[in-house]
Amino acid sequence: MTKVDGHESKPGEQNLPAEINYKDRIYMKRIEDIIVDIIFDWVNVILQKTVHPDIRLADVTQLTEAEIIRLKETLGIEGVILDVDETLRTNLKFIPKCNQEWIDIVRKHLKIIIVSNGKDTSIAEFFEERGIEYISLAFKPLSFGFKKACKKMELNPEKVLVVGDDLFDDIYGGKRLKMRTAIIENVIEDEEIQK
Ligand SMILES: [Mg+2]
Repeated sequence: MTKVDGHESKPGEQNLPAEINYKDRIYMKRIEDIIVDIIFDWVNVILQKTVHPDIRLADVTQLTEAEIIRLKETLGIEGVILDVDETLRTNLKFIPKCNQEWIDIVRKHLKIIIVSNGKDTSIAEFFEERGIEYISLAFKPLSFGFKKACKKMELNPEKVLVVGDDLFDDIYGGKRLKMRTAIIENVIEDEEIQK
């Protein structure tokens, strides 16, 4: 029986110093990360080619009151399903004032409901104070969160616009149910707007 780094081994058992095992593990992790990155890049390329949102917006405030009225009149949009992260807020910070005001503008014209894959107590309270339903842990692009939202708004999916940042979760998820979709590129924070 031999001893390596305090570990007693039986004859025939492979022994590597703990330091080498650690380096091997780091190396394997890097390879795993690279493979996952490549897979995601390919999935992204396929999505970019096959999934096309109806509207592209630099940020949510670009969906102006005039545009909301136009969507209502021309496409019969009556409700909005809104994503939270990287749509209304960024880096898990709170929803900036400009986006809070934008939500109030949307509410004047359309039914609104939040469908998020995340779960955040402060965000839940924010929407609860405004009487806006917040569906968390929705597992988008799976359809049950979207269907639940349509049911709560009492609207057919064709009358609903999904607004989100993620081509797979929000846009592909919405399109599967024949909803209209708008993709958001950025979240503008108040400081940027004040410049
Ligand atoms: Mg998002």
